Amino acid sequence: MEKTLIIIKPDGVQRRLIGLILSRFERKGLQLAAAKLMHISESLARRHYAVHEGKSFFDGVTKYLSSSPSLVMVWAGPGAIQICRKLMGKTFGCEAEPGTIRGDFGCSRGYNLVHGSDSPESAAYEISLYFTPEEILTYPITDEPWVFSNNQ
Ligand code: UDP
Ligand code: MG
Repeated sequence: MEKTLIIIKPDGVQRRLIGLILSRFERKGLQLAAAKLMHISESLARRHYAVHEGKSFFDGVTKYLSSSPSLVMVWAGPGAIQICRKLMGKTFGCEAEPGTIRGDFGCSRGYNLVHGSDSPESAAYEISLYFTPEEILTYPITDEPWVFSNNQ
């Protein structure tokens, strides 16, 4: 089953939007495989955003991600990576479509509430930064045939 790393970033936690944001992934039909509330250190944030090292926003985004606790999660499901990216919307809240998480809850550029892996490679790398294999749970979920069956 495809897995993706989703983070409700510090602004999402501070603005008490955890429940509303989490419910977007849950009601879509994805399955929660792991979750932890944690204060990401600056060094972990720098490893998380290593792909952006050298860019103008690198220092800002790593400070932002390590500024206050975040809810770090793994969500699973067929096509989970792209499904989550669509649910999140474009990077900046001011540009994201209404109906998406960023489009509905934010209008900042840098503070955009959620992180989601953008490819299978980045998902594998990012999940390994936060979770051991034992912490990622696989379990039967009763509505799975109703949610995912009959894909034409
Ligand atoms: N970011 C920023 N300014 C920029 C581009 C990105 O502050 O010009 C921040 C923003 O929080 C974003 C993160 O850096 O979520 C990572 O950027 P990326 O392009 O990977 O966007 P995402 O994958 O989160 O949509
Ligand atoms: Mg990205």
